[in-house]
Amino acid sequence: MDINLNKQVAIVTGSSSGIGKGIAISLAKSGAIVIVNHSSEHSRPEAEETLKTIEENGGEGLIIQCDVSKEDQVLAMFQTTIDKYGTVDILINNAGLQQDASFVEMTLAQWQKVIDVNLTGQFLCSREAIKEFLKRGMTEKSKALGKIINISSVHETIPWAGHANYASSKGALRMLMQTLAQEYGKQKIRVNNICPGAIQTPINKSAWDNQKSLDALMTLIPYDRIGQPEDIGNLAVFLASDYSDYITGASIYVDGGMTTLESFADNG
Ligand code: NAP
Repeated sequence: MDINLNKQVAIVTGSSSGIGKGIAISLAKSGAIVIVNHSSEHSRPEAEETLKTIEENGGEGLIIQCDVSKEDQVLAMFQTTIDKYGTVDILINNAGLQQDASFVEMTLAQWQKVIDVNLTGQFLCSREAIKEFLKRGMTEKSKALGKIINISSVHETIPWAGHANYASSKGALRMLMQTLAQEYGKQKIRVNNICPGAIQTPINKSAWDNQKSLDALMTLIPYDRIGQPEDIGNLAVFLASDYSDYITGASIYVDGGMTTLESFADNG
């Protein structure tokens, strides 16, 4: 499938690392202009690395530092993007983090931080994107007025002991996605979730950086390999394109079969 996103403008939150970086590069290779977002000063070199790869592949983009959980910074990121490129066509709500603890030991700060970034961040960015889509109106570049793709997780449906804040943020993200798909379907805004399983990135390094952990991980993955950011990037490109014009309100799992619950393979 030869997809040309035809210079549509895509904001990819959290694209200095891991899945967001993979998506940013995949979108740019398919012809999108990409805003490479990151939150912290220390990840600036990694954001520059993402942009460099985009440019080496003939693409175009801009780095914008913004903490997606801060309203003023999100507004500024959208304004800068619109001032430079005229509009936003695609929002990839990818920025996310974990702060793990058993439930009784979880501090309010740990709960709040994860909800702020993984859920409130998606709310703030989606709201600004939808405002811009509605203000701009239809263009020749897409059959949709705009596309929002959230990077959720298999944990939007699989409970995860020791990660109550994270699983709650992803479960809520499913309902946010479905509500927006319903609320703005008539205006031709498409909203979908990608639900990764285990993808090899810094967020889950301890699950793959030694053989014992990797072997344990493989007992959860029927397809018998860890996922790569490109596996998510490929689906993001498809969901951003008109090939997926009838897909909205969907959660699509990219997990090597993890949600078939491999632990039941031997009859449970
Ligand atoms: P990662 O490698 O740790 O990257 C996280 C990215 O998010 C970084 O670019 C980071 O930049 C950015 N970020 C964090 N807080 C931010 C904030 N407040 N504002 C803006 N950007 C922020 O993690 P990843 O594995 O790629 O995860 C990306 C997304 O995929 C997350 O939503 C995660 O829940 C989801 N996911 C990952 C997996 C997996 O197996 N890897 C599985 C399921 C779902 P800074 O360093 O500058 O903050």
